Amino acid sequence: MLLYHKRKPRVRYSYATHLECSATGERHDIARLQGLSAAGKPLLARYDLTALRRERARADIENRPPGLWRWHELLPVPDVKHNVSLGEVETPLIELANSTRPPGFIPPTVKDEGRLPTGSFKARGLALAVSMAQSFGVRRVAIPTNGNAGAAMAAYAARAGMEAFCFCPDDTPKINLSEIALQGATVWRVNGLINDCARLVALGKERFGWFDMSTLKEPYRIEGKKTMGLELAIQTQWRLPDVVFYPTGGGTGLIGMWKGWQELAALGWIEGPMPRLVAVQSTGCAPIVRAFDAGAESATPWENAHTIAAGIRVPAAIGDFLILRALRETHGFALAVEDADIERARREVATRDGLLLSPEGAATYAAYLAAARAGKIAARDRVVLFNCASGLKYPMPPVTLRMDLHTPFA
Ligand SMILES: *Cc1c(COP(=O)(O)O)cnc(C)c1O
Repeated sequence: MLLYHKRKPRVRYSYATHLECSATGERHDIARLQGLSAAGKPLLARYDLTALRRERARADIENRPPGLWRWHELLPVPDVKHNVSLGEVETPLIELANSTRPPGFIPPTVKDEGRLPTGSFKARGLALAVSMAQSFGVRRVAIPTNGNAGAAMAAYAARAGMEAFCFCPDDTPKINLSEIALQGATVWRVNGLINDCARLVALGKERFGWFDMSTLKEPYRIEGKKTMGLELAIQTQWRLPDVVFYPTGGGTGLIGMWKGWQELAALGWIEGPMPRLVAVQSTGCAPIVRAFDAGAESATPWENAHTIAAGIRVPAAIGDFLILRALRETHGFALAVEDADIERARREVATRDGLLLSPEGAATYAAYLAAARAGKIAARDRVVLFNCASGLKYPMPPVTLRMDLHTPFA
């Protein structure tokens, strides 16, 4: 008997259904440009995971070219035509085979996010945020930034033909200021910290109608950052590592990965338990560590924040309660490391394993060593450390050796 081929079901590019207030659960319209919820809290995108589970298999994702857009069903961008892309690669997992580790421990692995466009994982979040903003016709975007987020926003905004405005604390790495400017954004140095810069963005939003791309003040960046966790799943053949060390500033990546794993679990694509999440901060700015150790549900602002790891110099995070919840629900913990240990860790990994980490990435290796020594992780644990930016963006030691051609090796 002749069989008629079944009519293809309508293929949905995104399975996003609505946005949900992370504090009250109140629904917000996904088809409108959104910032914070009515309660002033971060909004989180929700998806029709029941339909997605029925209509897609994880093999469909595996069969696509690597990169964050292969996850489009689990992203909010409504149509492929709105994707603003600069060639987002799947970042490699690199084993630290030679760097020091406690006796008996298996080597930890670094997920090297420095390979992404603009040299940091901020590209993931800003690719999504700019794509969504463009889909809603936004023309002007603004951000308070310690450097990398501004650089990524400037790049994607340039690509999308938008105007971009960046506010940086005075001591933001010079290279970040310059790359932002060269990518066409207007950039100001501000005599304050990132939270002070955020107030200027809020003012500009009021006066000039800029779209505010501050961490978790719009619901799209976190969806891009979530792809770090999704990518880890596919790279480990859907068997996630035991522990993930994440350098935590605003916490978008940490909350995002946790959210992404919950979605994968609901789809039946991974099985529990989830990796234990570890928030790594500097002893010069450790509001999350302090709150975690105190058993608090939210953090109090850190006074006189200072650290060489600019990306995690965030004295107050709007998503603090979500970070703390993610740590506790995954049976993880929070750890602060000294700047001197960060510098030592950076040298160790560069000289022994040939991997040039950012200070924030090096902080995760320093925290790994401290956690191992303190018995907080086990020798057989499969550990992933996040290197969030290319080490080339940060100060390196000067070279002092000289050689005279006329008297070689004298
Ligand atoms: C932004 C940033 C971080 C912190 O990431 P969050 O997800 O915002 O906590 C860490 N390191 C570097 C280099 C960064 O640019």
